[in-house]
Amino acid sequence: MSTRIVKCPNCGVFNTNREYCKNCNTLISHKKKREIKAAEVKQEQIDEAIEELENPNLAERLKQSPNAFYRAIGWIIYSVITVVSAIGAGLAWLIAMVAAG
Ligand SMILES: [Zn+2]
Repeated sequence: MSTRIVKCPNCGVFNTNREYCKNCNTLISHKKKREIKAAEVKQEQIDEAIEELENPNLAERLKQSPNAFYRAIGWIIYSVITVVSAIGAGLAWLIAMVAAG
């Protein structure tokens, strides 16, 4: 394993093979920063996809509609929410990717 010495941009202390500054605990690993950033972007997309699908007012309103066509759409949305919730973030992420084109 190679030795990486990184100077903390916050307090100027030199750190060896650390992701966080030993003095002030600032994140100093660029690789770690990128990983966190990527994870944040991914989580945002998942949240957006879930929020869009889990619009309970829309599904409930449609299910209550006197119009059979809208009721059917309401049930489809309701089913999709149920399936997505069951399968979890993996599918939500996939939907986010598809939606993002
Ligand atoms: Zn520091």
